Amino acid sequence: MTDTSIETPFFDVVVVGGGPAGATAAERLARAGHSVALIDRAGRIKPCGGAIPPRLVRDFDIPPELLVARIASAQMVSPSDKRVPMPIENGYVGMVDREDFDEWLRQRAAAAGATRFTGGFKAIERQDGATLVRFQPAGKGEDGVPERCIATRLVVGADGARSAVGRHSIPGADKVPCVFAYHEIVRIEPAAKDADYDPVRCDVYYQGRISPDFYGWVFPHGETASIGTGSAIKGYGLRPAVERLRETAGLASAETIRREGAPIPLKPLKRWDNGHDVILAGDAAGVVAPASGEGIYYAMVSAEMVADAAKAFLATGNAKALATARKAFMREHGRVFWILGIMQTFWYRSDKQRERFVSICRDKDVQRLTWESYMNKKLTRRDPAAHLRIFFKDLAHLFRLVSP
Ligand SMILES: Cc1cc2nc3c(=O)[nH]c(=O)nc-3n(C[C@H](O)[C@H](O)[C@H](O)COP(=O)(O)OP(=O)(O)OC[C@H]3O[C@@H](n4cnc5c(N)ncnc54)[C@H](O)[C@@H]3O)c2cc1C
Repeated sequence: MTDTSIETPFFDVVVVGGGPAGATAAERLARAGHSVALIDRAGRIKPCGGAIPPRLVRDFDIPPELLVARIASAQMVSPSDKRVPMPIENGYVGMVDREDFDEWLRQRAAAAGATRFTGGFKAIERQDGATLVRFQPAGKGEDGVPERCIATRLVVGADGARSAVGRHSIPGADKVPCVFAYHEIVRIEPAAKDADYDPVRCDVYYQGRISPDFYGWVFPHGETASIGTGSAIKGYGLRPAVERLRETAGLASAETIRREGAPIPLKPLKRWDNGHDVILAGDAAGVVAPASGEGIYYAMVSAEMVADAAKAFLATGNAKALATARKAFMREHGRVFWILGIMQTFWYRSDKQRERFVSICRDKDVQRLTWESYMNKKLTRRDPAAHLRIFFKDLAHLFRLVSP
C-alpha cells in the first residue's frame, strides 16, 4: 500500500542501487546540478573479491585509506599444481572491503547533493505522462511501513546483476547469461602461518576441480581473505569446491567470517535504455569483463557514461541521447571484452588447456602486457614487438608445438 499522506517528491533522476555504478552515476549527476534520489537496499554487503586496478583509484579519486591491501604479484596455479609467479612491475592491484568502499561512494554522492533513501525498489509506473518509482522504505517491521513514490524524468537502474529495474523495462535483461560466484571471508591468522600464503599476493587457481569453466581465487584483504570460485554450470557445487580450495591453500582451519555468493553477468546487454525514461549501468547492464569477472571498474566507468547520456537527455528532452552511453562504452572497452571472451572459451575449456594457459604465464612478455592492460585498462601499444612475439607463441601453443 502506498502512503498517500506523503506528497510525491520530484527528482530529475532516480538512481536505483547504491553500489559502485549507482553511487558514481548519482554523484556525477548531482555535481552537474541535477536533483538526484539514490535508493539503496540496506543491510547486505555485496559479495565480491574487491580487487581494483590503479586506474580506478586514480580516475575516481579513491583515498588510499580505503585500500586494505596492495598486491605486488599473482601466483597462477595449474591443474598439476605448477605455480607460476607473476610479479607486478611499476604498480599494484588494490583490495577494498565492499562494506566500506560502497558506503564511502554513497556518502560522496550525498556530499555532492544526492538525496539518499533506504529501501527496496518495487516498480516503475506511468501516470499522466509522469514516471513514478515505487519503493518499500526500510523500517521496523517493513511490512507495516507504507510504500513510497518518487516522480522523475529518468530512472537509472544500477541494482546489480539480474536487475529488477532491467527486468521491468528492458527487453532481454532477464536473459543475461551469468557465472554464479561464491566466496568465504576468512580470518587469516593463525592458519596462514603454516600455509603457502602471502598477504601481498593473489593466488589464482586454474583447476577443473575448483571450477570447470572459471577460476578459483585467494585474495588477501589485510587481516582477512576472500577465498572463492565461480561457474556458469547450473547445480555445480561451489561450496564443496571452495572447501577443496581452502584445503589446497592450507586455509581449511581458518575461521570463517562470512559465506556468500552472487551472480556475475557475462555479457553486456544489447540495449541499456528503453528509449524513453529508463537506463541501466554496471552489472545491471551486464558490463563485467569475461574471463576475469572484473566488474567494479567497468560499473563505475559505465555509470559515468550513463550520467553523461542522462545529462544530454535532461538538457534536450531527446531520449535518443540515452543510447550514446552503451555506444561510448563499447567503443572504449568492446575490444577487450571480445578478446577476454575468446580467452575464456578457449583456455577454460579443459585441464589440458588450463595447464597450457598457466605455462604461457611464465612468459615475461605475457606478464608485462597482462599487468599493463589490467592496471591501465588499455591494450598497451608501447611494445608492438611483444604483441607479435605473444601472437607467435600463442600459435605455437594452439598447434601444440610446445609442451606445457
Ligand atoms: C563473489 C564475487 C567476487 C567478485 N570479485 C570481484 C573483484 O575482485 N573485482 C571486481 O572488479 N569485481 C568483482 N566482482 C564483480 C563486482 O562485484 C560487480 O561487477 C560490481 O559490484 C558491480 O557493481 P554495481 O554497482 O553494478 O552492482 P552491485 O555492486 O551489485 O550494486 C547493486 C546495488 O543495488 C542495490 N540493490 C539491489 N537490488 C535493489 C533493489 N531492489 N532496491 C534497491 N536497491 C537494490 C544493492 O543493495 C547494491 O548496493 C565479483 C562478484 C562476485 C559475485
